[in-house]
Parts: sequence; C-alpha cells; structure tokens
Amino acid sequence: MSQTGTTSEEPRAWRWERSQDGASLRRWAVLGLKAALAGGLLFAFVFFALVLFLPLPSPSIPEATRIYDRNGERVASLFVENRIIIPGNEIPEYMKKAVIAIEDRRFYKHFGIDPASIVRAIYHNLKAGKIVEGGSTITQQLAKNLFLTPERTVRRKFLEAVYTIKLEMRYSKDEILDLYLNTIYLGHGAYGVEVAARTYFGKPAKDLSLAECALLAGLIRSPETLSPYRNMDRAVEMRNTVLSLMAEQGYISREQAEKAKKEKVVLAGLPKSVGQYFVDYVVASLLEKHPDLADKVYRGGLEIYTTLDLRMQKIAERVFASYMPPASKDKQGIEQPQGALVAIDPSTGEIRAMVGGRDYSNSQLNRAVAARRQPGSAFKIFLYTAVVDQGYPVTTVQTCEPVSFPGRRPGETYTPHDYGQFPYHNAPLNIRQAVAISDNVVAAKWASKVGPAKIAEYARKMGVKSPLELNIPLALGASEVTPLEMARACAVLASGGLRTEPIAILKVVDSTGRVIEQNKPSPPVRVLDEGTAYIVTSLLRSVLGPGGTGESLGPVLGNRPAAGKTGTTDDHLDAWFVGYTPDLACAVYVGWDHREKPLPGTGATVAGPIWAHFMAAALANTPPRDWEVPSNVVWAPVCDKTGNLAGPTCFARHMEVFRKDMMPPVCDRNHILDFFLERGGASGTPGASPESPEKTTGSDAGTSQNPVPDIRPREAPPLPGPLEGLFPGQQAPAVPAPR
Ligand SMILES: [Zn+2]
Ligand SMILES: [Zn+2]
Repeated sequence: MSQTGTTSEEPRAWRWERSQDGASLRRWAVLGLKAALAGGLLFAFVFFALVLFLPLPSPSIPEATRIYDRNGERVASLFVENRIIIPGNEIPEYMKKAVIAIEDRRFYKHFGIDPASIVRAIYHNLKAGKIVEGGSTITQQLAKNLFLTPERTVRRKFLEAVYTIKLEMRYSKDEILDLYLNTIYLGHGAYGVEVAARTYFGKPAKDLSLAECALLAGLIRSPETLSPYRNMDRAVEMRNTVLSLMAEQGYISREQAEKAKKEKVVLAGLPKSVGQYFVDYVVASLLEKHPDLADKVYRGGLEIYTTLDLRMQKIAERVFASYMPPASKDKQGIEQPQGALVAIDPSTGEIRAMVGGRDYSNSQLNRAVAARRQPGSAFKIFLYTAVVDQGYPVTTVQTCEPVSFPGRRPGETYTPHDYGQFPYHNAPLNIRQAVAISDNVVAAKWASKVGPAKIAEYARKMGVKSPLELNIPLALGASEVTPLEMARACAVLASGGLRTEPIAILKVVDSTGRVIEQNKPSPPVRVLDEGTAYIVTSLLRSVLGPGGTGESLGPVLGNRPAAGKTGTTDDHLDAWFVGYTPDLACAVYVGWDHREKPLPGTGATVAGPIWAHFMAAALANTPPRDWEVPSNVVWAPVCDKTGNLAGPTCFARHMEVFRKDMMPPVCDRNHILDFFLERGGASGTPGASPESPEKTTGSDAGTSQNPVPDIRPREAPPLPGPLEGLFPGQQAPAVPAPR
C-alpha cells in the first residue's frame, strides 16, 4: 500500500513543474494527505511490530573515561560506575515523590509517553524563561539510561519510544520507579540513590531527610553542574524548586516544604585521589573546546592522554600538604590559608603538575588557574627583564632613599620603602643586589625609569594575560595574576627567551578508537633576547644565594643551578615563590581566599619551602644542568669598589655578566694610590662593597636587620678566556648571611 503511494508520486512531481493551475494543486493536496496517512500507518505498523517482536536489549553499562599521564600511567578514572541496588521498600517515599514531582508529575497516569507532559513542559519552560521541567517521562528516561547511548538522533528517539512502551507493558509503575531510582546518574560517579546518598550525605538512602531527597531529585537534570560540591547555591535553588513542586502537587504540606527549605546542606566530602584539580582542568578545557562531549566525558569511555607527570604530581601534593601553614576554617567552612602550585616543562609548555588548593574534597576552586592574586615582588621579574633588555648593565646603581611617585589613582602619591625595621638602605644598590634582596625603593626607581608601559609590555610578552594597571606600584606587584601565568613567565626565562602555550591535553580517543583531539605543543616563539634571559636568570640565581631573600632555599636544591623570586604583599596577605631550572618552571602561591588574615611568614618562608622541596624531589632523577652562555653575553671581572670593569689595580674584584654591546667602562682608579691616601682619611667609594657597614633591612627577608649584602654571582665564569688565572679572587667566599 505504501509502495504504490510513493511510486505513483514520482511522475506527478514533474508535471507540477510545468503547469501550476488550481486543479493540479488540489490534486496535490489530496495526494499529500494520502501519502502522510500512508506514512503514518507505516510508522505505526513498524512501531508496533517492534514493540511486539523486538526484545529489550541487555542494559548498556556506561563506561568510565580514563585519564593518563605522559607516560601512559592512569591518573584517574572519571566517574567509574558505582551502583548499589536496593529494594523499593528501602527507598524513602519522599525520594519517590520528589522525583515524580520534578521529573514526571503524571507518572501514574500515562502509558510511558505523555503528550500532555510534553506540552506542559514547553509551557512551563517558556513561562519560567529557563528549563524547569523536562518533557521525557520517567519511563522514557529509564529506557534511555538502560538501553541507549547518549547521542541525540532520530533513530535513537524512535527506539527510546519502542523500549518505553515495552517497559510499561512488562513492569508495574512501582517497579519502573524503583528501577529508575536504582540506575539514575546523580553525579560524581554515583548511579542510583543509594550511592548518591552515600556520596553526598554519607548515609544510606533510607535515612535521607525530605530536604536531602529533594536535593538529589533536583540533580537529575544536570548532575555535574548542579552538584552541591561544585555549586552549592544552584543545588539549593533546585532543591527548593523540587520542594515547592512537591507541596503544589500535594505530596507534602506547605509548612513541610518551607521547613525543609531552611535545612542546611551537610555534605560528606568527596574521597581523595591524585591530581583532582588537574583532572577538573582537563575536563573543563576539553568541554570548552567540545561542548558536545559533555555526556561522553562523564560516561562515554573516553581515553584522555595528558601532559601530567604522575610522579611529580604526587610529589607536589605531598610537599604541599607537608609545608602549608596549619589550616583553620573560614566562614564558608573552607580550610585556609589556601594555595596553588603549577609546574611547566619550559621547552614545551606542558603542564607537569598542578595543585589548585589544599584539599579537593574541601574546596574545588582550582587556584592554579582561577585565582588572581597580587604577586608582590615576584612581579619584579618583569621589571628587571625590561631593565636588562633596555641595555642597563647589572652593575648600574640606584640609591635606596626616601622618594615618592604618582600613585595608583590621580592625586595619590606612592612612597615605596623596604619592610622591616629600617625603611631605607640610604645607599646605592646595583641591580644584582636590588634583585637579590628585593629592594622596593630601587625597584620603584627603575620602574619610573623604564616606565610602567614598558614593564607591562614585557609581562605580556612573557605570557601574562590578566589586566595590568600602568603605574609604578605595578612593578612591585599591585596587579593581580594567576599562578599559571607566573609559571609560564618563568618558563620563558628558563628556556632562554622562548614562550610556549601551556598545554594539558595531548590526545583524546573515544570508545570506538576514533581520535577526537590531538595536540602537539605549539612551536616556541622567541619573545626575549637569549642574552637578556641569561642575565635575568643570573640575577634571579642570586635570590637563592648568600644574602638573597631565598637564601635558605638554595641549599634544598643542592648544587643544581636554579633561579627564583620571592613575593610578599603588604601585611603578609599573599606569599609567592616563582622559579625555575632549565628543566622545570614552577610557581607557588599561598594566601587566604579573601585575604582575611595574614600568613605566618613571607614568600620566602611560606611559599618558598613548598617550591624548593617540590623542585628538588621532582628533579631528583634529572641531572643538574646549567644554562649555556649565549654568544652575545660575556662574564668579565668587575671592580668591587666602583662596579666598573676591573683595571690593573682593582684587586678587589668579582665576575659579572654583561651584554657584549653594553659593557661598563674600565675602572680608572688607582687603588694602590688610594690605599695610601685612605690611611689618612675616609673612603669615598660608592657601591655596596663588603665593607659597607650600614644596618638596614631587606624587603622580603622579613628579618629586621639585613646589611646590604655582598651579592656575587654563584655561576663560575665558563670561559674567562685571556683573563684566565689572573684573578684568583673571583671565587672569594661571600660574607656571612645577614640575620
Ligand atoms: Zn632599600
Ligand atoms: Zn677599581
């Protein structure tokens, strides 16, 4: 019957092209009607034939998505299926009613498919301006969950209808509801109300309160995004909607609903496993690029290959737990202070380790990427990169003394000073000294000299994307950045001036073996001159050397060449340590989420140990490696007294690194003559020679009495060339550490 209907149409379609008179149109309308009728009958025939003869397939089991590290080691299984089947009489009545109220209010009235509820859902959703009700009945959802994959195709929708009718024919309404409540996905790997009750509330389903039942029922729409672990406000909002619907439909009284709406949600806490913040980051990055994968990520059996180094990740978490200051809970019940660590391979931008907070089960905010904080003096790495790249030799001095600059807002003045007992050194400091002790006044003077725009330009080049205020306080870390940005900037210096994009996902394969995404590290972009990167690295190595703010951290890394910078903001509210070796760049941040309370120390004492112990252990299997001297820089002996290149009578000298085109002049003093003259009078030499006796204070060191240190580069000059052997004093032991 349908066969003749469709074949007889063909020639007429051609005729219609030629003549469009009224008679032919009428004939057409009649024909269309017949065809529609025939199609409908065919559909009904096939549908009921399938309902009668197609057996229900065995339930399809959702597959866990697996996440691997760079060596193919399993980091995590996302949402492993986790079911505990309980009999219907152990499921609270409130649970059943809550689900019916929100998902399928006519459940006991329809035959599996409910045209009325579809119309009602459309009406309610339009009225509310958002999805408050779904059109699928409980039986339809059960058919979908048990037998079908998450794809949204016409064929799938058709089969769903067939299976729905078959379920209704085979089982009673109560059996269908029990089956549904035992198999429904409720987030965090929990299938069924029993596992969900334990996952969220740490108790069996039979002990759930009315409010808890309503909360679980509210999750069905979008368990991952509505999860109270991720979004308490939305979970509570949804719970209250369910309670209102229950009251409206007569399952509970208005008073019961209002009372339950006031109940506080008490969560049990998620179990701990390795790399949870990183896993979140990977899933978020994947969904940002492929929003269509939402279903598959959670239950479609994807294989995600990542850049993580599981060994380093475990070290990071262990070190983080051991060296974080003791925790106390804030008003929201979140442990404080919080912190983050992120480590990057400088040559590729691959993220090797990521810690986003002190305990994932307590707080899921990934501070490594989501927290913008003032970096304090850690931002000076951009300032001094700009200064060095502008051509200033590192022997150039600025005097630390009272001075004011325009502030962050018009009319304000900014008066930088060092922290501690003595606000000023009242002495000239060269760039190496200023970096090592993190002098604020000298930094502000340099910032004013090169200009905030220039500093911001270098920060941008080195990968900082956060908004930056163009003013002098910027150079001292007033604009907020993320730990990932700081780690990335360190990677630029570590790699000799090459910038890479941070990358976490290498490859994603779906359950059929199809490659959904394949990423290669992006080719590095040269953003800094190699000589500039080398000189800045040399300066930052002094931070970890004698007299530097990170002096206590240097020994943790042994003889491994490493560079770093401390950062502490006013009143010790934020503490940073950022640093690197040629093989690994890492940023560590510690502070209260809302900066409510000061930390028990500085960047060097709070964040520094986490950084140093992580780096030492993470690189334990990597041989120490030094940076190669680029062709455009040179190590040369410098007169201790004048900071100029050593001349014939400059016996007090040390090695310093310069760009070949920006060398200071040769010292023109005759120190032999000076010696005899000085015996009768005071020395008038500038600079921070070891003799400088002033007792002043270093900014980040946090101690009250730091003399101007004798900061000499730790590097042994690799190729002294013709000067070799002439300057035995170059390895002179540094003065004792200031305390
Ligand atoms: Zn100073
Ligand atoms: Zn000299």
